Amino acid sequence: MNISEQFEQLRQSLRKYDHHYYVLDDPLVPDAEYDRVFRQLLALEEQYPQYLTPDSPTQRVGGKPLSHFESVQHEMPMLSLANAMDEDEARDFDRRIRQKLEKPGPENQAGFLVEYNVEPKLDGLAISLLYKQGVLVRAATRGDGQTGEDVTQNVRTIDSIPLRLLSDNPPELLEVRGEVYMPKAGFEELNRKQKNEGKKPFANPRNAAAGSLRQLDPAISASRPLDMFCYAVGKVDGIDLPDSQSGRLAALKKIGLRICPESDVVQGIDACLAYMQDIGNKRATLAYEIDGVVYKVNSIKQQQTLGFVSRAPRWAIAHKFPAQEEMTVLEAIDVQVGRTGALTPVARLKPVFVGGVTVNNASLHNAAEIKRLDVRVGDTVIVHRAGDVIPKVTGVVLDRRPENTLAFDFPAICPVCGSDVVVDEGGVIERCSGGLFCDAQRKQSIKHFVSRNAMDIDGLGDKLVDLLVDKGLIHDVGDIYGLQFEALQNLERMAEKSANNLLKAIEKSKQTSLARFLYALGIPQVGETTAGILANHFRTLENIESASSEELQSLEDIGPIVAQDVMVFFKQSHNLEVIRKLVNAGVHWPAIEKLEQPDSEIKGKIFVLTGTLRLFTRNDAKRALQAKGAKVTGNVSAKTDYVVVGDNPGSKADKAVKLGIAIIDEERLQQMLANTDFNAEDV
Ligand code: NAD
Repeated sequence: MNISEQFEQLRQSLRKYDHHYYVLDDPLVPDAEYDRVFRQLLALEEQYPQYLTPDSPTQRVGGKPLSHFESVQHEMPMLSLANAMDEDEARDFDRRIRQKLEKPGPENQAGFLVEYNVEPKLDGLAISLLYKQGVLVRAATRGDGQTGEDVTQNVRTIDSIPLRLLSDNPPELLEVRGEVYMPKAGFEELNRKQKNEGKKPFANPRNAAAGSLRQLDPAISASRPLDMFCYAVGKVDGIDLPDSQSGRLAALKKIGLRICPESDVVQGIDACLAYMQDIGNKRATLAYEIDGVVYKVNSIKQQQTLGFVSRAPRWAIAHKFPAQEEMTVLEAIDVQVGRTGALTPVARLKPVFVGGVTVNNASLHNAAEIKRLDVRVGDTVIVHRAGDVIPKVTGVVLDRRPENTLAFDFPAICPVCGSDVVVDEGGVIERCSGGLFCDAQRKQSIKHFVSRNAMDIDGLGDKLVDLLVDKGLIHDVGDIYGLQFEALQNLERMAEKSANNLLKAIEKSKQTSLARFLYALGIPQVGETTAGILANHFRTLENIESASSEELQSLEDIGPIVAQDVMVFFKQSHNLEVIRKLVNAGVHWPAIEKLEQPDSEIKGKIFVLTGTLRLFTRNDAKRALQAKGAKVTGNVSAKTDYVVVGDNPGSKADKAVKLGIAIIDEERLQQMLANTDFNAEDV
């Protein structure tokens, strides 16, 4: 390919990506790929400036406005930002600034630090708000930077944007710029709804915000959870503005506009980088999505000295976090069988660096998800990994699909034992019907039985369970207590000491609680909370075994499906046999003396934990609460009684404030736990 063809190919790709991203709000490729192509073009233009044309995507901002909106001519162009992808690029930016600002004098000595206003880079879309005499008269998108779309009617539905400024003496004219975004919780809710209604979910909160705001029907915008942070001033008439970015933000706040509370003023690039680190640590707990931070020279006078290049100011840079979304090739789809027989398809990927780690596998959830994505072996797929969340395949880059790919055929028989696969009532989960005949289910149920929150048998890890089952030394959980020293010692890589330790751990686990034992049995739908509720109410295993559906359903949290699962479990003779085997081997628990718990601040209450806890691990706090009869849920709703807030709490704490729910700290939680002496762990 000659140079001019290379130029054409890169420009064409970017134009196509821009159209999908800005006009259709439905990106074709992850941002990381877009940024790579964009940089390739920039590098080529630098090398061959004679090929640079004014209509190159590197010289322009955004995409063409949609024609079904009135267009708005921006009096001052709305620009983009230059990007720094790593620390070196951020330092280069600072070096360029210092060189430009250099002037003879003491501040030009080695210690000359530029003052920056540092802000999160909000992942939404830029909007201009025009206030005349303090009244909102127009709101417009950035569009291509010169011409935007008039979205006034839609913007008026965003509650936090004042229709009138809080000022007795408002300026003649004030144009404010900022980012309209969709909070994370609202985005998840919206996508759940989209999926339920069979509509395409949005790729990310940015596209969801843009798509929601660029609706012809303001009622649709109104139904979407949008918010706005302001970060700049455009055209003004009739007031003198402060001479720094930080001063301007404070002034905007004073007149009722929302400003991101995470903004700060720092001196020099090292402090900027430290700020980025700090915000990065907080990122998962922020209620809104950010994709980096923005460093802006704080002094307006210095900004003027520095000026602009074609598509961005020279005095600001967006320092981006490593991408949370990447693309790679799907090499195979494996179907795994879980403890309850659920078949989970797992994507085997060509290793890809995303969200700060190398990802080889990602979840594909179930057959319906594979069908929805129409993902095929050989496809280039989009992989998303944020924080500690398990990586997911979120889409397919269709224009990279190789020829002759085939739609994935979900297995009709279990890949491990060959039993028929059945689809459960909801039509979502495929299950192997082999039950404990299926090696995979047996292995998983044994792994669950020995796990920390169940019988807690130290030293009996996943690999050893696989080995014991494969060698025929254990067939079900009942066989664990019959394991002999000789048999263990003969296993590969099992020394005398570890065999002894394992036998000790097995012996120790015999003393347990009814709640743990019930949980360990792996009854479908019976997690730790439900196991605790059953143990507290029925007090003995015999009572639970003979409980009727009505009795079971009279308990909080137990509906007809759970009741059915419990009853079916205790009707299976092989389950009862295993239970007898365990009890005969000496598994026991203390009797439950009292049925009634003293009045407690905890029993029957619904708790939500948020932020980083210092005094407990999340798991311990949850288990302590559940043991005392509380329910711990993941989402704040009107039914929540207490929200326990640790460091850096996120949107859950905000929601609790909105709903007027009691917010307590860890010390108070500790006190409450100490005041309640009944403990289901003793049961
Ligand atoms: P950008 O998003 O990289 O940066 C500029 C924008 O940042 C501003 O317009 C503003 O909306 C926003 N912003 C957020 N917080 C801000 C703050 N505190 N101060 C100032 N501005 C702030 O640039 P862009 O021009 O909007 O978009 C380019 C980027 O969009 C690309 O780098 C790419 O990641 C993505 N993109 C992706 C595709 C794709 O196909 N995936 C296509 C086009 C663009």
